[in-house]
Amino acid sequence: MYRFCINVFGCQMNVYDADRIRTALTSRGWVEAPEEDAEVVLFVTCSIRDKAEQKVWSDIGRLAFPWRGPVIAVVGCMAQRVGPLLLKRFPSVRLVCGPRSLGRLPAALGEVMATGKAAVLLDEDPTVLDDLPEAPLARSNPWKAFITIAHGCDNFCTYCIVPHVRGRFVSRKPDDILGEVECLVSDGVREVTLVGQNVNTYGRDFHNGYVFSSLLRDVALIKGVERLRYATSHPRDLTRDVVEVMAEHENICPAINLPIQSGSDRVLRVMNRGYTVEEYAAIITMIRSGLPNVAITSDLIAGFPGETLEDFHESVKAVERFRFDLVHTAAFSPREGTPAARMEAQVEASEKRRRLKEINTAQAVITREINQGQVGKTFTVLVDGPAPKGEGLLQGRTPSDKVVVFPGDPAMMGFFVKVKITGAGNWHLIGELEPARQEDLRR
Ligand code: SF4
Repeated sequence: MYRFCINVFGCQMNVYDADRIRTALTSRGWVEAPEEDAEVVLFVTCSIRDKAEQKVWSDIGRLAFPWRGPVIAVVGCMAQRVGPLLLKRFPSVRLVCGPRSLGRLPAALGEVMATGKAAVLLDEDPTVLDDLPEAPLARSNPWKAFITIAHGCDNFCTYCIVPHVRGRFVSRKPDDILGEVECLVSDGVREVTLVGQNVNTYGRDFHNGYVFSSLLRDVALIKGVERLRYATSHPRDLTRDVVEVMAEHENICPAINLPIQSGSDRVLRVMNRGYTVEEYAAIITMIRSGLPNVAITSDLIAGFPGETLEDFHESVKAVERFRFDLVHTAAFSPREGTPAARMEAQVEASEKRRRLKEINTAQAVITREINQGQVGKTFTVLVDGPAPKGEGLLQGRTPSDKVVVFPGDPAMMGFFVKVKITGAGNWHLIGELEPARQEDLRR
């Protein structure tokens, strides 16, 4: 029995992995503890941008000195990418584990703690998956859960490290996922998010006609799944049947993240994204005609190698044309081992920052206008917890995944409430509780 602490970086798949590691360790009698009391600190890491890795390096450095600090285990994408160099640089790092080797982690960590001998569990074969069997019952959030439905990615977008660190695409078996959802619902989960690098290709490797829309429908039909979300979609693979299933089931939230990445066909081609802007536009039309109240968010990279000012202005135009509810933007971050990192004509850092600022400013106007259009409407909000700013304020999300801040009692955390929208900011809505129309407050 050891005291452990988990620090999570990056995407929702990492949150899911961290919850399963927590479940696996606690079921073996280990106890979660604050970082300062922990005998072992696990980092579940991300490699998507350099910044994400720098944060982990600096946190490891903070714990690794003085020498009598906790044992450190580095898990996930950065562990796979950097490998044994982590052990060399920081002797306190005693375990390195790739994202497809988590099944070996609990036993190996026990061994490390007992003997002090380091362990390196890297994913040698990108087609092999040694997964943890545990459902994430010891979650960081009691009423919301992520469930990974597929591992890896075969798309090889030229800027992306994911296929290099997370291996080849493989779908989890429907029965395993459905069983896990049932188990989570009976454990108090009210909102389930199905996650994968590209959920739309789910089932393609089964060759039996069971595809993402089949899974989405089956999960939506499970009693107790009050809200169902998914992420992330790929514009080339999002098909009409998915939109139809969303329209058929009220508990599937009308929210889609559809990364465009660039508004220039030339850049999209070099990125190896597999669609043009007009093809992307046709998918947006198909989604909006099937789901009139849908909120569409997107991801976009500013300053991809060789992106001219003309290309960049195409991206600004795309943002203005598609009027996304929100866009997650990032300056291009070269990832060693990817083709884009080796491309000539890298855009200057200061120019990338300038473009990022320009596109963010354009999107902020759109987001504010969309948010202002919500004023006067009432939404059912699942209360997440206290708002990060403002005394006595709570924060929750609408079905369309917009953040709402409103005055309320912290005892409402994990409950659905009705909130009337009274104001809007750039990144959130402001509201007030509708006391006469409180939803049934069962948990
Ligand atoms: S679809 Fe492209 S961007 Fe997304 S994970 Fe796969 S390679 Fe990376």
